[in-house]
Amino acid sequence: MAADWADRVAGADCPFDHDLPDCDDERYRVRKLTASTLYLDRNQAYRGHGVLIFDRRHATRIDELSDEEWQACADDLRQACRAIVAAVEPDHLNVESLGNLVPHLHWHIFPRFRDDPRWGKAVWTTDVADMPVAIATPDECAELAARINAALDAPAA
Ligand SMILES: [Zn+2]
Repeated sequence: MAADWADRVAGADCPFDHDLPDCDDERYRVRKLTASTLYLDRNQAYRGHGVLIFDRRHATRIDELSDEEWQACADDLRQACRAIVAAVEPDHLNVESLGNLVPHLHWHIFPRFRDDPRWGKAVWTTDVADMPVAIATPDECAELAARINAALDAPAA
């Protein structure tokens, strides 16, 4: 039987509490940062869609972090956002931390474009099944990850 919500919040069956592969059907690893790891979502319906996962321990919400953990996460998040913006030059950027399906602290970074499927509205609809899907190949992910990594290595403006 699947763990109930309280158990999942406490870390039962948490898919983010062990090393994730470099590339699987869900995501493609870009780089380990200070307190988190940046991935590309394999669904690139929003080009540059990144997922930043806190990877020091199991935590569900930012209020559970120590001051040092939060500062490190905030720095990672800003770095990731800057690099993704540099790589895909969007018209806008959405950052979301929900944790309703996987209650382990992570952020979705969605570059938004005037011609994207839901411009002017939230990305998420009522159900994951209603989300637009455009699965990127591993080669496409590698090309995008290289651009993001180059931006991460560039000196801050
Ligand atoms: Zn976890």
